[in-house]
Amino acid sequence: MEKLFKDIDGLKNYVLELQKNMTCRPAVSPEQGGTGELAKSLYLESELKKLKFDEIFHIDAKDDKAQGGIRPNIIAKYYGKDKEKTLWILAHMDVVPEGDRALWKTDPFELTLDADGDTIYGRGVEDNQQAVSAALAMCKAVMQSGVEIPVNLGVMLLSDEETGNKYGIEYVIKQRPDLFGKNDSFVVQDSGDPEGREVEIAEKNVFWIKFTVEGKQCHGSMPESGNNALYAGAHLLIRLKDGLYAKFDKRDSLFAPDNSTFEPTKKDNNVPNINTIPGTDVFYMDCRVLPSYKAEDFKNTVAEIVKKAEQDFKVKVNWEILHSAVSKATDPNAPIVKLYCEAVKQVHKVEPKVLGVGGGTFAAEVRNLDLAAVVGSKFYSVPHVPNEKSSLTFTLADAKVLAYILMNLK
Ligand SMILES: [Zn+2]
Repeated sequence: MEKLFKDIDGLKNYVLELQKNMTCRPAVSPEQGGTGELAKSLYLESELKKLKFDEIFHIDAKDDKAQGGIRPNIIAKYYGKDKEKTLWILAHMDVVPEGDRALWKTDPFELTLDADGDTIYGRGVEDNQQAVSAALAMCKAVMQSGVEIPVNLGVMLLSDEETGNKYGIEYVIKQRPDLFGKNDSFVVQDSGDPEGREVEIAEKNVFWIKFTVEGKQCHGSMPESGNNALYAGAHLLIRLKDGLYAKFDKRDSLFAPDNSTFEPTKKDNNVPNINTIPGTDVFYMDCRVLPSYKAEDFKNTVAEIVKKAEQDFKVKVNWEILHSAVSKATDPNAPIVKLYCEAVKQVHKVEPKVLGVGGGTFAAEVRNLDLAAVVGSKFYSVPHVPNEKSSLTFTLADAKVLAYILMNLK
């Protein structure tokens, strides 16, 4: 282990190069105004080919809106002593858009290394390029050392995590369910904390909902001749938020925060001018429900609140769940959880904390196959913000955690 850890420490420049080359290939999905992951995936595949993987192949999903007409998913495998078992490391290639450029101190799509020689800035450096870099650094160290690994080592570099996984993990599971073997273990370094303490084994159930309120458009001076959809929508929004928080108020200390959350988020434009009463109002909510609640109960409650608002405000409301992820929890006694905790102690020198989170990683998809998946990372936890940053030292520490797990998995 000591030798392997030392080898990993020597890979700081390797990680920096990987990060630099990923950051300048913005893999924003077409749904968010980008061109997809093709350029980044070609670069990463060329890097994987420099290592000693036994197999590298693609499971690309068709998407006419993306560059090359595909959303690439790359799978790489390096055989271990026991070929019936694989430690899979899952990471996603796509990034979210940079947002307001004025808030960035540096070019979001050109990597900047801080004067401290460790902190790097750029869109994606943490989410999820730190995980991609940690995985490749670990693979490089293990392969160069020539050490025999106890089980297969698998890496999946996936598309479409930020916009719902349809072209990414969901597609891969559908096409090749055989890759997800019943003896396999999964690590996802896509959520964490600066100490690397958190070991995530469960996620809240996620629902992203679009509400379209239909009233009747009219002139601003004659409200009686129409029906103000914005006004009705505003009431509905408040009823939803207050009503859902009041009804689903259980606390579960495994999770942080320990309650379910129901937040109004996005708002579509309605009318372009001030003197028209809008006939349509569209808003969205991000709901994260503790897994002890049934998804049906949640949906029924939303339906009740909507129905009442329709009656009270004489509007029609269409609501649509645009994305949902309902998942099982991983058993806290699963070997991969125990090993991850041991690795946190060994590498980060802190006491691990097993917990559940608000949700949103693709570990949920794996858990729904009744397979054990752990999510953890030593990182700043600043995904999606302007001036997103990552640490080269943290990345190497994450690589060591992976190496520790790989070498001790039986
Ligand atoms: Zn992510």
